Amino acid sequence: MMDRRQLTQAQWLDAMGIDPFWISEAPAPAGVPITAVTSPAKPERVGDLAAKPVVAPSSLSTIEATDWTALEDEIRECRACGLCLGRKQAVPGSGDRSATWLMVGEAPGADEDIAGLPFVGKAGKLLDAMLAALNLQRAQGVYIANAVKCRPPENRTPETGEIDACNGFLNRQIAMIQPQVIVVLGRPAAYAVLGQEASIQSLRGSLHYWEQGGRRIPVIVTYHPAYLLRQPAEKWKAWQDLLLADSALKALPA
Ligand code: URA
Repeated sequence: MMDRRQLTQAQWLDAMGIDPFWISEAPAPAGVPITAVTSPAKPERVGDLAAKPVVAPSSLSTIEATDWTALEDEIRECRACGLCLGRKQAVPGSGDRSATWLMVGEAPGADEDIAGLPFVGKAGKLLDAMLAALNLQRAQGVYIANAVKCRPPENRTPETGEIDACNGFLNRQIAMIQPQVIVVLGRPAAYAVLGQEASIQSLRGSLHYWEQGGRRIPVIVTYHPAYLLRQPAEKWKAWQDLLLADSALKALPA
């Protein structure tokens, strides 16, 4: 009889369209080793904003606020970088506000800009399959947020200055949710959460930490679902990363 791990692996491979050949070729993923790597303090960066801030939100650097309505209002009204000029609406994030898992993406795309919700397009469907493989689903123990809350023009990658301008919002979300594990999807999200401008290749496979105000939360870095749609051969690595996140979660003291 298949155990839960094999079953979810089979489900995931099926949902992700991964060749079953890999099941027999790849090592059993249950015992993915965890290498502890503590993230360095976030370095100072010179902003390269697309446009100068119009109004800097007064509490952008305050991470202790616990009022979701106030936070989301602030996000929707934010004019701290040029992305506000092209948005239909800001996309604060969605899901379980007491989530165990926090998934952090890059930025809203065209679909999200219209819906006001994160990951509603093709990449979102793949993200749903990734969550399902872990027996998870949106809004049930999962919160989904983005590094920046407004759509970059032509869906370009957000600039570091734009991520910096939005970072107070993400940090407040993390501080309010207090997830037990954070899964970072792609390089801009890794920069937002870890403050490191490094390749996904160099960041994945290790345990990192988000640390602020005495809180320390394990962070796993993996590929963005949109990248996985373009490079399906990398999906297997993403599966390993999700198992690493699952192992990190299970290794936390009760
Ligand atoms: N890609 C992201 O990174 N975030 C979204 O919300 C949608 C697509």
